[in-house]
This record gives sequence, C-alpha cells and structure tokens, in this order.
Amino acid sequence: TSSPTLTFNDGNTIPQLGYGVWQVEDDVAEKVVRQAFEAGFRHIDTAKIYGNEAGVGRAIASSGLSAEDIFITTKLWNADQGYESTLEAFEASMDRLGLETLDLYLIHWQQPKQEKYVDTWKALIELKKRGRVKSIGVSNFTKEGLQHIIDETGVVPAINQVELHPFFNQSELREFNASKGILTQAWSPLGQGGELLESATIAEIAAKHDATPAQVVIAWHLAIGNVVIPKSVTESRIRENFAALDVTLDATDVEAINGLDRGAEGRIGPDPAVSD
Ligand code: NAD
Repeated sequence: TSSPTLTFNDGNTIPQLGYGVWQVEDDVAEKVVRQAFEAGFRHIDTAKIYGNEAGVGRAIASSGLSAEDIFITTKLWNADQGYESTLEAFEASMDRLGLETLDLYLIHWQQPKQEKYVDTWKALIELKKRGRVKSIGVSNFTKEGLQHIIDETGVVPAINQVELHPFFNQSELREFNASKGILTQAWSPLGQGGELLESATIAEIAAKHDATPAQVVIAWHLAIGNVVIPKSVTESRIRENFAALDVTLDATDVEAINGLDRGAEGRIGPDPAVSD
C-alpha cells in the first residue's frame, strides 16, 4: 500500500498520510524515520524547533530513497519571523536536512502580536519563486490571519496545519480552508494518545473493522479529507499507523466520530489567535 495523495492549489501533491517527529531526539529521529520509511511512509513532518532536522536528514541520506520519492516538510520558528531572517533560517534548515529543494515550508505559528507574519509570508513566496521550495503554507493560522496574508500578497497558502482530532474537529476552520483552496493538515491527530484512544465510540468502530483505535482515528482523518501526521517512536505502532490506510470507515462511523467534538474545550495546545 502507498498513501493516497492530495493536490495543492499550486498543482503539487502531498501524500495524505505522513509521519510527524515532534519530541523525538535528534539521534532517535534517524532510527525512527528509517523505520517509518520501511513501514511505507514517504512524507515526514519536522520543524526547526524540534531540533531533529539533522537526524531526519541522516535518515533520508541513508534510506536509498530519491528526493522524488519522498515529501519533506519543515517549519520556520517564531524567533526567525521577518523577511531576511526567514531567508536565512530556511537555508540553515536546508543545511541540516541536507536537501537541495524542500517540498513544503510552513510558518510554524501566526504570532499575531509580533505582526511579522506578512513579511514572513513574502519571504516564503520569494523562496518558492527561486525554486528553493516547491510549496509554501502555514501552521496555526486563524481565518483572519489567512485572509490577511491573501489580501496582502494575492498568494494563497497550500495548506494550514492546525491542531485537529475528534475532540477538537475544527469544522469551521476546515470549511474556511476549503473555501479558499487551502488543504487542512491535522497535528496531534491522535489527541496525543490519551483519552481519545480509550473512547467507547472509537472502540466500537475499531471492533467492527477489526482495527485498532489509532487506526480508526487516522481513517477518520483520511475520510474527512485531512492530511494527517501521527507520531510514534515504537516500530510496531509506526507500522500499525501506516496500515490505517487499509481501514475504510462508512458514513455512519464518520458521523459517530464527528459527534465526539467538544469544541474549544477539546483543544490541547495553545490557541493561535492569542499565542505569541
Ligand atoms: P499524536 O496525536 O500524533 O499522538 C502521538 C502519541 O500517540 C504517541 O506519542 C503515543 O503516545 C500515541 N500513539 C501513537 N500511535 C499509537 C498507536 N498506534 N496506538 C496507541 N498509541 C499511539 O501527537 P503529536 O506528536 O503531538 O502530533 C503529531 C505530529 O504533528 C507531531 O509529531 C508534529 O510533527 C506535528 N505537530 C505540529 C504542531 C504545530 O504546531 N504545527 C504541534 C504539535 C504537533
């Protein structure tokens, strides 16, 4: 099995199921990213702030996979926002990753109070123009922030990566993203592995499909059109998560999981509208 792909508004494609490496030490990253490649993942989500771009780069270099076969995302950290500092931070990330061109570069957080995200977005537009990065997008952007960068530059982000899981399903933002031609990418898609994976609703659907709770949650993300990047450093779970591609939920399952939404109460991480 290989992951289905989704098409960005710039014509490039992204594997819908990827592998995230937040909170993975640099020396561990090399091993687990290799395991992810072996399990079938071809899309890796890292960030400068994760401190493991070099480890991801070593895994890529030793994988035997060619650049065309893999999809790598990294993110610009908050302290590097601003036009010139973004161009510099990008090259430093590329050195650590050891890549010629990047598939996707994201502004990690909007940081509304810093008021630098428009200049930062202009730098990403320049990097795409120069061919250093194939696609550009954002993470943790509100509707207002998205509208603002679109109005200022005329360039629509390819994707908006936000916290999204069944307890916080972001239906309103997903609808807004879709209306602008922006894909939605789910971070902490398993709700960081706590209460969500013990939910009775999820357990029932898992039993029905002879699948695990994590696979059912990943299958829900795929069914509603999200790009999804579950994390695990346990090889059996890395394989299990990739095998979620074989689980197909029906409309009743999707409806039941939609019903688990807790609105703003379900949020785990910071609120991008006020986080600075
Ligand atoms: P996640 O929702 O992917 O949960 C990961 C945890 O779930 C694991 O540590 C483990 O405890 C558990 N788990 C994983 N697979 C399992 C399985 N098969 N069975 C049982 N338990 C399992 O959480 P995450 O790491 O926060 O999010 C995924 C990725 O999203 C990150 O690695 C990172 O790449 C990205 N992310 C981005 C941002 C952002 O601001 N853009 C923020 C957080 C995370």
